[in-house]
Amino acid sequence: MQDKPTGAEIRQSFINFFVERGHTFVRSSSLVPGGDSTLLFTNAGMVQFKDVFLGTDQRPYTRAVNAQKCLRVSGKHNDLEQVGRDNTHHTFFEMLGNWSFGDYYKREAITWAWELMTEVWHLPKDKLWATYFRDELNEIPEDREAADIWLAQPGFNPDHLVPFGRKENFWEMADTGPCGPDSEIHIDRGLDFCEFGDDPDHICAVNGDCGRFLEFWNNVFIQYNRLSPTQLVPLDKTHVDTGMGFERIVSILQDTPSNYKTDLFLPLINTIQVMAGQNDHEREANLTPYRVIADHTRATTFLIADGVVPGNIGRNYICRMLVRRAARFGMKLGLHDPFMADVAQVVIDEYGDFYPELKRNATAILDNLTREEKRFAKTVHAGLEHLDELLTDIKTKGGQSLSGEKAFDLYATLGLPLEITRDIAQEQGLDVDGAGYEQAMEAHRLISGAGKDFGELGGEQVKVYTKLLEELIDTGKLSQSGVHYEPYRAIEEPVEVLALLNNGAPVETVQTGDLVEVLLPKTWFYVESGGQVSDTGQIVNAEGKAWNVQVTGMRKPAAGVIIHIGEVTRGNPRVGDLALAQVDRDRRIQIMRNHTATHLLHSALQDILGRHARQAGSLVAPDHLRFDFNHPEPMTREELLTVEARVNQAILTNFQLRIAQKPLDEAIKEGAMALFGEKYEGVVRTISIGEEDVLSYELCGGTHVDETGDIGLFLITYEGSIAAGIRRIEAVTGWQAYQVARERMNLLDQVNVKLETSPTEILTKIEQLTQSLASAEKEIDRLRKKLVADEFDQNLDKVEQIEGIPVLKAILPNANIDALREMSDKFRQQYPSGVAVLASEQNGKPILIATITDDLVKRGLNAVELVQKVAQIVGGGGGGRPTLAQAGGKDASKLHEALDQVHAYLRGSLDQQ
Ligand SMILES: [Zn+2]
Ligand SMILES: [Zn+2]
Repeated sequence: MQDKPTGAEIRQSFINFFVERGHTFVRSSSLVPGGDSTLLFTNAGMVQFKDVFLGTDQRPYTRAVNAQKCLRVSGKHNDLEQVGRDNTHHTFFEMLGNWSFGDYYKREAITWAWELMTEVWHLPKDKLWATYFRDELNEIPEDREAADIWLAQPGFNPDHLVPFGRKENFWEMADTGPCGPDSEIHIDRGLDFCEFGDDPDHICAVNGDCGRFLEFWNNVFIQYNRLSPTQLVPLDKTHVDTGMGFERIVSILQDTPSNYKTDLFLPLINTIQVMAGQNDHEREANLTPYRVIADHTRATTFLIADGVVPGNIGRNYICRMLVRRAARFGMKLGLHDPFMADVAQVVIDEYGDFYPELKRNATAILDNLTREEKRFAKTVHAGLEHLDELLTDIKTKGGQSLSGEKAFDLYATLGLPLEITRDIAQEQGLDVDGAGYEQAMEAHRLISGAGKDFGELGGEQVKVYTKLLEELIDTGKLSQSGVHYEPYRAIEEPVEVLALLNNGAPVETVQTGDLVEVLLPKTWFYVESGGQVSDTGQIVNAEGKAWNVQVTGMRKPAAGVIIHIGEVTRGNPRVGDLALAQVDRDRRIQIMRNHTATHLLHSALQDILGRHARQAGSLVAPDHLRFDFNHPEPMTREELLTVEARVNQAILTNFQLRIAQKPLDEAIKEGAMALFGEKYEGVVRTISIGEEDVLSYELCGGTHVDETGDIGLFLITYEGSIAAGIRRIEAVTGWQAYQVARERMNLLDQVNVKLETSPTEILTKIEQLTQSLASAEKEIDRLRKKLVADEFDQNLDKVEQIEGIPVLKAILPNANIDALREMSDKFRQQYPSGVAVLASEQNGKPILIATITDDLVKRGLNAVELVQKVAQIVGGGGGGRPTLAQAGGKDASKLHEALDQVHAYLRGSLDQQ
């Protein structure tokens, strides 16, 4: 049987398949949708491409393939209560997709889908089903085109093509906008997957109500623009948008009855089992807690990596709730100390290669989980006890549900999220009044006036910032466009602290040790974008009040709002104080060197390797730069050195950088390079390097050195592959480059001292040493053979006669297996009829050779049987031919005892004629 592919292999095979067909691999966007405050979390692969379909965003490619991180905690198809109770519901999941933006259409999409499923993944053709659109209202034309393409696929069963109406097979982004028919692909998993097998009225069907037919891929064909409920107009350019449920396809290809039994979850489940100390039977009896913990830990690990830490509102509340729900289910397995970090570490190990943000943020992930579990542990017992009293009380009074007010009180005072309260109530057959909970929350907000939106979903967190922004604009503290962002020149004058936030809520003042978000009217701290990391630094008081905020990160939580994230390291900052924002300059300069070097590297790669070597991703950090680009094979050493030299040439020429603002169309027409995954607006910033002959011309919002000479030195430290057709280069510049060079030279100096030579002589010296070592080894080999031969000759005196046959048993301590074989030959030359068993010890392990002459083989002896019988004593086994066999073992100390077996064997095996 073939080995089942791993989840990582399946993900990669999907990507490779479409990369090979001209698609550009686009990295997953964050779980926090950029610039879309209507959406709590990225919930589908198309979120990052939405604006491309709407025509407000342009990309430098027309075919894309991606694997997108998604999270759903509420909604028609994914109620949180379901997660953990069955085999298929998840909060976090991945979506695979291939995309055409005005490029190919239905024929390619369906033909490739069929090819991938049947020829790459070898799914059985007779188990696959497809649907196409036929309008039940007869207003929109039937999608005959898709139907005919399906029928033309080799081996596709025409009976497996079924039409469906608007609900299943017509996709719309919103009430108006791009839309079109779609085609779903289902697989028949067989009768075992049907839950209603006993019901005579039940018929299994595609889009039916049982688990037998599983939809795993939807291909959407965008061809209309909806102007009103009754008005559809055809689009000039048609698009393809597909989404494949990754967990589903893995479960299909690994042939598991549950997504949780795939290798996407099993390592997590196994870790939980070890911590819980349960055997397999106990685990199967307790699947719900295992599934909840595995799902929620995976989700929160990815959330924290994307900057969503446990907190009180919006997204942060979801993270908190998921950690606490997992912790509560952990208690059912006897896990009372924080345990999620151990499970999260497995998530990081398993997923970190494809999602490097997990590795990058590993410390933050583990720390945040443990901290939140500890916070919860402080109140959970009181909370659970109190809830239990409340539920018992309801039951004795014959009630049905817990009031929303009490449920809210449990969260506000004892930290029990509504979702946990509901879990527990449902376990006891009771309900919780969700609407009442909302009301109580609203009342609380009015009373406290703090604007704390406890546990509300949907853009609430953004609302805190937009509300703040509105107030500041109303009072004239900020202009209509919000915070003034000017990362390209230092702001030296004091500015007023406009707002401070602690725990997601605005506060008047904060204290030493508090985590804080600081809002200033303008800032020159760079906010992570285009691969360049955020600045760090400090905000100090400008009026002698002696307070200090250490800024560790930057964020744009809503349009017009930029906040400095940090910790108060001294004093009590207060809203209205005057402050000076100081970027860590050395770090910024090193980042600028790396960013400009990245542009030079990009252009050198295109020169040396060809135009296809386009940027596929980059990281510009203070200590190194990382550059991913399209190229089908490893770079040769010569290519690497040429690229490195080309960049250093540009550095030494000391080009001035020319930075300009111009309309996007104009820049693209002039040949400026636009980068994948970046969103550009009407007017763009361009960076060009080079005089008449422009070396590099890119759209870029990053910070750069004034002239290339500022970079100092550029050294490549790594070249490797990260995905099919995508290579990665890592490099250092400036001070780091100097350090790398200095360390190598130090090492060379040390080697010279050890070898008593000089840099110019070192290679000759090493060659001499290698040669003399080789001849010494040869000599040693010759001497050893002589030694073994001498030992053997001495042993020849000990040849015994057993049953009239000459038998030699000997241990030759210095012999390797070749030498033993040679000695066996020698024995046979001296004794045309005889048996020899020779043994030795190699690296502490016994080795054995048995030889039996042909005449004795005819009398029933067999070297294989003999060597096996002997090797058994030393804990091993072996094989070979009847005349010559060899064996190994474990315990060399038993060799003498083992050789004693020879007699018994001979007596027992000779034909008694
Ligand atoms: Zn069924
Ligand atoms: Zn750039």
